[in-house]
Amino acid sequence: MPELPDLAIVTEAFQAALAGRSLVAASAPGPLTVRGTPAELTAFAGQRLERVSRRGKFVTFQFDRDRIVVNAMLTGRFQLAVPAVNVPSSTALVLRFGPRAAPPPDVARWTRGAAWLPADDAVVEVRYRDPTQMGKVYLIPTGTERPVPGFDESLAPDADDPKLTLDAWRDRIRRHPGELKPLLRNQQFVAGIGNAYSDEILHAARLNPFRKRSSLAAEEIDELHRAMRTTLERAVAVLRKRVPPTFETEVRDFMAVHRKGGEPCPRCGTRISEVSSRSEATSWCRGCQR
Ligand SMILES: [Zn+2]
Repeated sequence: MPELPDLAIVTEAFQAALAGRSLVAASAPGPLTVRGTPAELTAFAGQRLERVSRRGKFVTFQFDRDRIVVNAMLTGRFQLAVPAVNVPSSTALVLRFGPRAAPPPDVARWTRGAAWLPADDAVVEVRYRDPTQMGKVYLIPTGTERPVPGFDESLAPDADDPKLTLDAWRDRIRRHPGELKPLLRNQQFVAGIGNAYSDEILHAARLNPFRKRSSLAAEEIDELHRAMRTTLERAVAVLRKRVPPTFETEVRDFMAVHRKGGEPCPRCGTRISEVSSRSEATSWCRGCQR
């Protein structure tokens, strides 16, 4: 499931690769995934892409008039490719962009001059594919009311939002009872964290995923905030190096505990525990997570 670090890489890279280009064609080979009409999709042609951004687990393509919001859910993936590369199976949406005069000024520093950036005079496509069709693509023509579930006032601050200070964190967490793993995954508490990074953050904080928030001491609450920030920052640094140009690939092998059940804990050597339900797993270390 794409989470904040995965989507941060995609949005920063796509902003660098695509902003300033006009859409020459849009198609929906997987129309069940798209919320909107064929006419609304066609109307994106000719519009200039202004900005690609992320909020929580939502990716927004803001064009000069209309916008597209994608919630990739469990299995949605983005590919950046030239049209000559075959469109992968289960592709739900293809956005084809034309040349541009120059890259936009507002791009992330790590993307500047990157070898994977398509040439400004090249035609380039974004393909969104989703084998389970659980994710959704929302077409939002300006002036149209089309609710995007979860992408509203209820969405919490992003986990990497500088405004989510330690004080703000202490204040917010007080209002959320329950176990720590579902707490971190609750997008109304903090946005952008899912199944994998919640395991990693709790391991970094030395906290058991099944602990109740109400059992945390004040310093443990503070440690959880610190662990969240450092875990996500480190992941973003790794993914910037390893994900491009295959943005559709989820890189997870660098993780400390998630999906590492049975392997030794990198901190204390205890065999990592894992419980699975359906497609999800919770992994933690009984040796050093209390
Ligand atoms: Zn351990």
